[in-house]
Amino acid sequence: LPDPDVAALTGGDVTDLLPMPDAESDKYRRGVVGIAAGSQEYTGAAVLAVGGALRAGAGMVRYVGTAEPVAQVRAHWPEAVITQLDRPSLDGVGRVQAWVLGPGLGTGDFAHELAGKVLASDVPVLVDADALTLVSRDAALLRRSAPVLITPHAGELARLTRVPRERVEAGRLEHARRAAAELGVTVLLKGATTLVAEEERPVRVNRTGSSWLATAGTGDVLAGVAGVLLAQGLSCYDAGSCAAYLHGLAGGLAADGAPLVTADVAAAIPAAIRSLS
Ligand code: AMP
Ligand code: MG
Repeated sequence: LPDPDVAALTGGDVTDLLPMPDAESDKYRRGVVGIAAGSQEYTGAAVLAVGGALRAGAGMVRYVGTAEPVAQVRAHWPEAVITQLDRPSLDGVGRVQAWVLGPGLGTGDFAHELAGKVLASDVPVLVDADALTLVSRDAALLRRSAPVLITPHAGELARLTRVPRERVEAGRLEHARRAAAELGVTVLLKGATTLVAEEERPVRVNRTGSSWLATAGTGDVLAGVAGVLLAQGLSCYDAGSCAAYLHGLAGGLAADGAPLVTADVAAAIPAAIRSLS
């Protein structure tokens, strides 16, 4: 019998949910997403997250980071509006409608303080990668009233919930659901299939994708895509679901039965959106 607490995500669902521009649109109404990602060591994560957000149709991407990732983001994406940070402060960064926090951010004091500033905002925040590590060390970071979407893979969820990784992998549905309830957040659990869990909702199961997505950086693109959808006003549950679906579809298009590089996944997001209609 089908489990009533599980819902397979379809292209029709995504078509219905995905915001499309119209004559009334302007860049501010098409979603202004802030991206706090990248570090001296991991500049590529910033480039990929910004790329995912731009390719998913952001009205504006505001990137904040230190000098090294800023130089890379600037070189790859002239469309991004950039604030170079000398201190972990968001003073002077314009208004955003949602934040993507964490890919390649690092886990030192600077990253911790910046994460605190982002999470102290009153807009939805997507928490990924290094920000999941920061949150697993300092649970107080997640005490906020605006929505939180976390995007762990099994290892990150295991660390966050202090459950052995094998147990998470053996019971992905149960552990995603439990983490959503216990942390009071929406959980997007990545893997060969992706689950989106939120209290009082059926767990959405996304099966688009390609095993070729198992390569470094693809999660950073997903974070950018989901961040834009949050900024466009979708709930964490809907933004996470649509992003997982489109990212998987783009992975399939980019790979087409052969290896992909992560930038190709971002580049294929428009084709994935086109294929919906
Ligand atoms: P991350 O773990 O942050 O690098 O993200 C990896 C991305 O690739 C996620 O979107 C996963 O769902 C996807 N992914 C990883 N492994 C597979 C796989 N074997 N099949 C399909 N998608 C995968
Ligand atoms: Mg990742």
